[in-house]
Amino acid sequence: MLGLMQNQPLLISLLITFAERNHGDGEIVSRRVEGDIHRCTYRDLARRARQLANTLDGMGLQFSDRVATLAWNGYRHMEMYFGVSGSGRVLHTINPRLHPEQIAWIMNHAEDQVLCFDMSFLPIVQAVHAKCPMVRQWVALCDADRLPADSGIPGLVSYEAWIGGASSDYRWPTFDENSASSMCYTSGTTGNPKAALYSHRSTTLHAYAAALPDVMCLSARDSVLPVVPMFHVNAWGIPYSAALTGCKLVFPGPALDGKSVYELMEAEGVTFAAGVPTVWQMLLNHVKTNGLKFSSLNRTVIGGSACPPAMITAFQEGYGVSVMHAWGMTEMSPLGTLCSLKNKHLHLPHDEQMHILEKQGRAVYGVEMKIVGADGSEQPWDGKTYGDLLVRGPWILDSYYKGECPLVKDADGVGWFPTGDVATIDADGYMQITDRSKDVIKSGGEWISSIDIENIAMAHPAVAMAACVGMPHPKWDERPIVVVVRRPGQELTREELLAFYEGKTAKWQIPDDVVFVDAIPLGATGKMLKTRLREQLADYKLP
Ligand code: ADP
Repeated sequence: MLGLMQNQPLLISLLITFAERNHGDGEIVSRRVEGDIHRCTYRDLARRARQLANTLDGMGLQFSDRVATLAWNGYRHMEMYFGVSGSGRVLHTINPRLHPEQIAWIMNHAEDQVLCFDMSFLPIVQAVHAKCPMVRQWVALCDADRLPADSGIPGLVSYEAWIGGASSDYRWPTFDENSASSMCYTSGTTGNPKAALYSHRSTTLHAYAAALPDVMCLSARDSVLPVVPMFHVNAWGIPYSAALTGCKLVFPGPALDGKSVYELMEAEGVTFAAGVPTVWQMLLNHVKTNGLKFSSLNRTVIGGSACPPAMITAFQEGYGVSVMHAWGMTEMSPLGTLCSLKNKHLHLPHDEQMHILEKQGRAVYGVEMKIVGADGSEQPWDGKTYGDLLVRGPWILDSYYKGECPLVKDADGVGWFPTGDVATIDADGYMQITDRSKDVIKSGGEWISSIDIENIAMAHPAVAMAACVGMPHPKWDERPIVVVVRRPGQELTREELLAFYEGKTAKWQIPDDVVFVDAIPLGATGKMLKTRLREQLADYKLP
């Protein structure tokens, strides 16, 4: 017998319709590429999303056709999230930090027909437009009077002129909730990038889950600043969860330096912010150097790469801002786990609480996890045994767009997505990433977690950034070395840092050497690029 409840498809258009009706005057504040601060409401955003939808219909764009963006976090980008997907097309958010060759490759692979870009990315568009014959319309996300006369891009229009003449009367179409809504390519540190193709259903379920108290805990009382870019896994789903909860949204645009982010937080009463550790490092440096405090920020989600425990302590103890460590992937929409205490932990001594909060956290409802050994056998949740981390759930990738299905089948024929991460899970369900399987250091048959070695270095006051990599060793296969960027004006010797490791990890895990550098290469999503770092160390010899 079937249930007798209404079967309404979970469509992204419902989110913006809801926000307009229930939070119409909810604020959306954006720092624009032009440098000024722009203010609008969910009502304005819904109206302009409908104008955009009419514009796309007017072009004769078909259901599921791809519309791409090269844009920072801002209100126009958010309109596209709803106008493009809501009208049945697929929003392809491109990471502008990729190499132009790679951008042209993914635009052709995705068969993008429209590209909307912030003016700061004009040089990229100038470099790629001739290589992308499928694009029918190039759109600069700006007012008509800001459009350069001689851009060299055929038929270039300004976004405001493009949607400005369209009617705001529009009926969002109804279709299968499993239809594609948006797509995002992984940064592709090896081989060609691969795309995750999200659906209306997966995105809506993820938006519900992201708002839960033990996840991002979003509400209509929050002022939310997604520092994580809208081109990186849909800013971890925040634009959708924002429409679902009606929170105030604050978009930082291109200004991600510590000073700009801090000033925006203070001016707009930001209570919650989300980003990767490298961005928070810049913010903490600014706040520390200038003796500042946060007057409204009370919590932050930090993920995308391992958050050093020293950063959690700096936020919590220095500024009263609680940190939720999060783990996820492009292939997971992206949320997998977040870390927060359970009721039974509330009375534990501080150190024991910190020990829990350093982990990547517990699965969000909707994500099933397991760890398996080399033979595929499931490993115990004892917090010690590590294995390859597999996941499944309604917002986790089944197959890549135009690509393979990477799932591994268990004995019951159930498919699990292999994350490429090695992890432990404890009896309370807290998962801790040991490493990415390709970064883990294999020394004498034992594994050393590069993350553990980096975290210890990061706790040294003279260290700004640290990356641990394995170097070939004739006897042990590999031995760890730590590559370090010193904080400006700080002295630190190799011997001092190695001595700092004493007592903090097993002796055989202490790095064999310290290499000081001016900068560690970062990838397109702000994560340390160990592949490039290893190339830079090609001539390095262990002592
Ligand atoms: P890409 O795989 O293209 O770098 P993703 O953003 O999808 O881009 O990266 C997902 C990977 O990032 C995870 O598989 C994991 O290795 C790493 N990662 C994400 N969050 C964390 C975290 N909190 N701690 C450690 N590693 C993390």
